[in-house]
Amino acid sequence: MTTLLWFRQDLRLDDNPALAAAIRRGGPVIPVCILDPDGEGDWPPGGAARWWLHHSLAALAGALVERGSRLVLRQGPATAVLDELIAETGATAVLWNRRYEPASVERDTVLKSGLKQRGIAAESFNGALLFEPWEIHTGAGTPFKVFTPFWRACLQRGGIAEPQAAPTEIPAPPRWPRSDDLDRWELLPAKPDWAGGLRQAWMPGEAGARKRLTAFLRHGLTGYETARDRPDVDGSSCLSPHLHWGEIGPRRVWQVVEYAAAETPGLRAAADAYQRELGWREFAAHLLAARPEMPAEPLDRRFSDYPWETDRKALRAWQQGLTGYPIVDAGMRQLWQTGWMHNRVRMIAASFLIKDLRIHWREGEAWFWDTLVDADLANNAFNWQWVAGCGADAAPYFRIFNPVLQGEKFDPDGAYVRRFVPELSRLSPKWIHKPWQAPAAVLAEADLDLGRTYPRPIVDHGDARRLALAAFQALPKA
Ligand code: FAD
Repeated sequence: MTTLLWFRQDLRLDDNPALAAAIRRGGPVIPVCILDPDGEGDWPPGGAARWWLHHSLAALAGALVERGSRLVLRQGPATAVLDELIAETGATAVLWNRRYEPASVERDTVLKSGLKQRGIAAESFNGALLFEPWEIHTGAGTPFKVFTPFWRACLQRGGIAEPQAAPTEIPAPPRWPRSDDLDRWELLPAKPDWAGGLRQAWMPGEAGARKRLTAFLRHGLTGYETARDRPDVDGSSCLSPHLHWGEIGPRRVWQVVEYAAAETPGLRAAADAYQRELGWREFAAHLLAARPEMPAEPLDRRFSDYPWETDRKALRAWQQGLTGYPIVDAGMRQLWQTGWMHNRVRMIAASFLIKDLRIHWREGEAWFWDTLVDADLANNAFNWQWVAGCGADAAPYFRIFNPVLQGEKFDPDGAYVRRFVPELSRLSPKWIHKPWQAPAAVLAEADLDLGRTYPRPIVDHGDARRLALAAFQALPKA
């Protein structure tokens, strides 16, 4: 009756339905994680994700040991590795929580039927979403294309299950199969070690996720509905990498936010706003399931003909946070240093790449994929297409963010820019978002030598905007 429990993006013990089912089967449970980058199709984990995965697996292994269990690590094509383990352990079942990326769905479907044909019980569960993508549909039975009716349908459906507590003990097999040494997986960066900022910013693993959630409930939920747009005040939960890796489940997050709103009068609006953000995560997964081409192809096919620029120098300046637009540069440096960027600034930086530089959104998507600790196929592709104006329910193309006005509105004192672009730290709020307009005396006073210590804008926003609109207007009409 031995069960293999296959961990993937559900690196937790709390509210883990596959784990609960494995224990219910009654026999020994062997937790397994498989490193299989080729099984991820075109999207093997990027650098920041690999760093996170290493630490998250170390945390999970520790938590399993505390419950009398272990984490068995193996490398190779998942199907072959599971076959090997079945042969070695005599396991009669393989259980896992579902993933929704096209390559995973394809592999898991074949795997499941293959196991079943050989008399091995194979079962998958929902540990990652509030609603399965196929549970929510329009009256005509088709997937939604617009967020608001999608979310209304989700809320009307309701019935979000109560999260299940983590087990106190996990039955162990009499003999453990061999495990790889995590260090041998070489997920951490080789020299140079660029991950110092990540180590400072994050605590991967279930305990780190809980800590973030608790801190957010104490200090962040009140006023979230407005503070979430302010990169200078840490107004959001920073749970995205923990949710991506499944170190905390959305049902648990939903439940504690519900409890907080029920206990504290006045928190309802903040709770609704927060839960709506979880809704965008659901919507992105829903769309990816309906349109598996989303990471590679514009959902609005007119954009296939958009005349993208291929200016590698400009792309490099954007990646390095050297565009001369302080809010964009602060965001790109926050990303490089910490593996994360505030949502408002993600939108501004993405808009700058796509519309001011007219560089393909896929370049931005790929850079984020490699550098974000929360890199998530559905969320990343969905949001890049949203900013580009070619996605479902996307921002209209002609709404082009002005990086100066956005900076002045959402980082009014310039605290965020000062934190990540220290060469501008001595500029006053009046000039910090447009240093090239500052009088020479102000620049001298701030010790700033434009073009030398900080770049001048690599494009003029007004000109870039006109060119972008002209390119858009030349596209075929809808
Ligand atoms: P909170 O405001 O605390 O929100 C709570 C949770 O809701 C988040 O953790 C996240 O899971 C979800 N969420 C919030 N906003 C969005 C959104 N717009 N779309 C989908 N889910 C959302 N998010 C990722 O998780 N992975 C990505 O790869 C990713 N790439 C992005 C690329 C671009 C160009 C843009 C504009 C946004 C991207 N986002 C991505 C969405 C969003 O920026 C992050 O989810 C958010 O900044 C995470 O911070 P938080 O946990 O503090 O969010």
